[in-house]
Amino acid sequence: MALNLGKIFGIQFRLHFTWFIIFIIVTVSLVSPNYFQWRYWVIGIAASLLFFASVVAHELAHSLVGRANGIPVRSLTLFIFGGVAQMTREVTRPGAEFKMAIAGPVCSLIIGGLFGMVWLLLDGITDLAMVIFWLAIMNGALAVFNLLPGFPLDGGRVLRSLLWHFTGSYRLSTRIATMTGQGVGYSLALGGILVIFLRPFGLLWFDGVWFILIGGFLARLASVSYRQMRWQEAAAQHQADSTLMPSEYSIIPRDNIAD
Ligand SMILES: [Zn+2]
Repeated sequence: MALNLGKIFGIQFRLHFTWFIIFIIVTVSLVSPNYFQWRYWVIGIAASLLFFASVVAHELAHSLVGRANGIPVRSLTLFIFGGVAQMTREVTRPGAEFKMAIAGPVCSLIIGGLFGMVWLLLDGITDLAMVIFWLAIMNGALAVFNLLPGFPLDGGRVLRSLLWHFTGSYRLSTRIATMTGQGVGYSLALGGILVIFLRPFGLLWFDGVWFILIGGFLARLASVSYRQMRWQEAAAQHQADSTLMPSEYSIIPRDNIAD
């Protein structure tokens, strides 16, 4: 379930239906508690859209760097916190994977830094300054979260490419990176449980629920990614063994979690 947005740099962009739900939650949380002043709705929607544009830039950075390194991306499905790229080819070199994976967080850090500089220049506590500050923090958070060293997050891909480079084994590297991904996911979920009961740093029980949801989602993605790799290996092995297999089989694109 996704809405077609058209092409940017030859890449088909799609909007996943869950995007609308999160967009409303983010906007409402920005407007809260000034629900009866339309001005805050304008500011909230503008801020959410600018954050969305930041996510698009992050994904475009992955795609364009990937393309420059021989990994063409055909389409991107956007969720509000990231995207799923459909690549037409699997990464075959650790160097290419490293550059493609690091490009997104670097882009978010640069955007966050630019918003941070604008905020410093504004030097005030106007609504505009608050929005700019929020965007700086959100882009920084996007970079830091994605750099967590668990597959399939960008940081997990960076980890895999480094392990791959040093061990020469794609399979072993993927195994370690997906295990780290499960570890990161379970740690976040455990942290969420602690937040619910202890509420440290002024966090609310509701923040703990988010931690558990995101952590559980990550742990699941990590194990799915590993199974997917095993399945592809088996398919590739089968193909190599069979002379009857049609040649188109090898170019069936796969969905790949790029974020
Ligand atoms: Zn990314």
